[in-house]
Amino acid sequence: LGGSISRALQQMSNATIIDEKALNDCLNEITRALLQADVQFKLVRDMQNNIKKIVNLDDLAAGHNKRRIIQQAIFNELCKMLDPGKPSFTPKKGKTSVVMFVGLQGSGKTTTCTKYAYYHQKKGWKPALVCADTFRAGAFDQLKQNATKAKIPFYGSYMESDPVKIAVEGVERFKQENCDLIIVDTSGRHKQEVALFEEMRQVSEATKPDLVLFVMDSSIGQAAFDQAQAFKQSVAVGAVIVTKMDGHAKGGGALSAVAATKSPVIFIGTGEHMDEFEVFDVKPFVSRLLGMGDWSGFMDKIHEVVPMDQQPELLQKLSEGNFTLRIMYEQFQNILKMGPIGQVFSMLPGFSQELMPKGQLDSTNPKLMNDSRIMRIARGSGRQVRDVMEMLEEYKRLAKIWSKMKGLKIPKKGEMSAL
Ligand code: GDP
Ligand code: MG
Repeated sequence: LGGSISRALQQMSNATIIDEKALNDCLNEITRALLQADVQFKLVRDMQNNIKKIVNLDDLAAGHNKRRIIQQAIFNELCKMLDPGKPSFTPKKGKTSVVMFVGLQGSGKTTTCTKYAYYHQKKGWKPALVCADTFRAGAFDQLKQNATKAKIPFYGSYMESDPVKIAVEGVERFKQENCDLIIVDTSGRHKQEVALFEEMRQVSEATKPDLVLFVMDSSIGQAAFDQAQAFKQSVAVGAVIVTKMDGHAKGGGALSAVAATKSPVIFIGTGEHMDEFEVFDVKPFVSRLLGMGDWSGFMDKIHEVVPMDQQPELLQKLSEGNFTLRIMYEQFQNILKMGPIGQVFSMLPGFSQELMPKGQLDSTNPKLMNDSRIMRIARGSGRQVRDVMEMLEEYKRLAKIWSKMKGLKIPKKGEMSAL
């Protein structure tokens, strides 16, 4: 996907005359790429029309950086599409809020309920979980296990078959216990059906949630719009959570969910574990959708600190996963100048701050050098053994980070300023 967009932009810059046809060809290529990322056809078409209005052919012809102008326009347009224009209801710590989770079975509701509770608990909230899924056998056990692991109070029943009754009882109990975030997990069913939406309507009416969260699997593809709309028609969906962003799906369905519910995406799920949960951040999301990472920001940083003629080689080596001690030596000063390296890397998809090795470094000896060699290096360089060890630890730490860059598409020399 990233490849085809880069290609489209490349073709465009190769064209000597930028006319309407060249722009259209480019937009068509991008359209294909966005459809592949599960962005709904209608939304892609709207975007295409907007871009045509925004991008001024005269500007392009005047020799401004064409690719950058178009890329920026697409980027901004997608960001806008993810912004419904009004924030969602935000629960307040210390004040009771009821949050109801809805979504199809398997979308990740139960998992996400716990993540959401845990996220707030870590910030000092008093969350509680209510299992109003009486449809699926084992639903209560699953919630109970998650809740127990996170030490979050929970409510549910193995016997009761009325979801409305359980939801009401649970919410009442936790209100009395002064919980400030009462989370109601609901059933999903395998497909959209009348009974499910009627059940959601009843649970919502009985528990009067302050916020209804629609949970969407990032891989549902073009089905996202109808699904989100169907839920929105039965309950007042106020925000969206997109799960399984750790998988292959780019999550273009999120644009549909926002369009269908007129509510923002507020979190994303990035794994099966309790803490694999992130506040939604529109720019990295769109970068990923376009398959380009936040290369623009990353490249700007690199431009600032690494002399132009050294970049292609460095990036090529890093992308091949060849991070050697020599490269570290040669690039160390420049890399350091990039500021907190974590901040630079957080611009790339998959490099969230949490992924960075933190705190104490693993203090075992690097395998690649034995003690006598380390001592020899220390003597030869007039340093302490400890200094050499520290240097090797730093290498290991960086090597681990750089190794994650392996396979990332590296812009070629001429493309540098565009991507
Ligand atoms: P529910 O039927 O909507 O309650 O969905 P569950 O919470 O039971 O989740 C269905 C499956 O998706 C489970 O195997 C979860 O572990 C998995 N899951 C949920 N969220 C994520 C996520 O963000 N990433 C990954 N990889 N798996 C997830
Ligand atoms: Mg469930």
